[in-house]
Amino acid sequence: MTGTYHIWTIGCQMNEADSRHLASQLEALGFAETPRAEHADIAVLNTCVVRQQPEDKAVSKMLSLGGTKRNKRKMIIALMGCMVGRREAEDLAVRFPFVDVFMAPSQTDALIDYVLSRDEYSHLDRTQIELSDYRLPVINREKSITAFVPITLGCSHACSYCVIPYRRGPDRSRKPEEILAEIHALVGQGIKEVTLLGQIVDRYGFDLDGEFNLAWLLKEVAKIDGILRVRFLTSHPSYIDEELIRTVAETEKVCSYFELPFQAGSDRILESMRRGYTQAEYREVVSNIRKMIPDASINTDVIVGYPTETEEDFLETVKLYDELKLDLAHIAKYSPRPRTVSSKMSDDVSDEEKESRANRFDEVVARVMGENNALMLGAVVEVLAEEFQESKGRWRGRTPQNKLVFFEHEGDCLGKLVNVKLDWTGPFSLIGRAI
Ligand code: SF4
Repeated sequence: MTGTYHIWTIGCQMNEADSRHLASQLEALGFAETPRAEHADIAVLNTCVVRQQPEDKAVSKMLSLGGTKRNKRKMIIALMGCMVGRREAEDLAVRFPFVDVFMAPSQTDALIDYVLSRDEYSHLDRTQIELSDYRLPVINREKSITAFVPITLGCSHACSYCVIPYRRGPDRSRKPEEILAEIHALVGQGIKEVTLLGQIVDRYGFDLDGEFNLAWLLKEVAKIDGILRVRFLTSHPSYIDEELIRTVAETEKVCSYFELPFQAGSDRILESMRRGYTQAEYREVVSNIRKMIPDASINTDVIVGYPTETEEDFLETVKLYDELKLDLAHIAKYSPRPRTVSSKMSDDVSDEEKESRANRFDEVVARVMGENNALMLGAVVEVLAEEFQESKGRWRGRTPQNKLVFFEHEGDCLGKLVNVKLDWTGPFSLIGRAI
């Protein structure tokens, strides 16, 4: 063993995928994972600045590691992700002088170069990474059977409140052959389900020569032997099209599940957010999906307390969610992010009011999800078994609609599709037994 590493990750699935990618590079060099950052020779913080809270957590974690490094001078500390972005490294180096490497999202090579330049690791060689096909996400931990695969990087949409375009740059598609090779290799490691990732995943292929788009890619991934399920996220109401919806409807392995944020119900707020659609247009997209895929589940994201949001605006957002009977809604309380358009507006909804709106929305989500799931009582659903929970003596898995299911089964069904009859339903999970 060369040494140890620890990667602390917060934020979206894209960060998780980047962390796994970096882990696989470090493991190829002979580093072993350790559960505590303070004990690691290489400690990496993969950060998110979409809201203030994850940024504060990363800063506090980093300051604590700075303290550890005072007595452990050879420790390498690396900061990556959206906190570093594409232009923030210089400022951060002044603020956090104990950090050795700053890496923009997905730019993990900077750490590898730094490690290889250090005397104590001079015996290591980059070819160890190249020979190991380092692009594979590390999945040897916990018998994982699902993996995230980024297919587009960055975002060019520039919603008024969002810092991602400034930190991850404009959107660009990964080459199809690279993605497909990665998924073939994942199958070799036991992966059964892949989720294709992009900030606006529906835009996949717009910058590639040829007839490549997400619908095409989903069909190609579904053809891979050993892949049981394919998912994709996150969609944008202005870019999801009929061809894509039809592909989901007609391609057996592609899950009938959509992540389709609406963010706000009021047209005035949507316009200020620069989302690019109206409430009516969002409703139409949902209606098109349901026409073609009646059992589709649709998750969404919502922001409460955006500048100038009144109680009436908020109630319109709740009403939209409630009327459409969507599934899970991720609710974020608005916080201004540096350089964004909305950060120049007055953050005029008080913290108490944001908290109240988020709590009230949470209650509606729990009710709607409880009602949606209650309709499934007694039904037989197909579950991909992801993990056996020793302490509870039951399996955990998900339906194609991404519903969490716990079920009893005598044999080893890890990574298999199991038919489960549902005996109990709640807002956030379902319980049944294998039949
Ligand atoms: S679509 Fe909007 S919210 Fe989503 S990443 Fe792009 S700018 Fe951010």
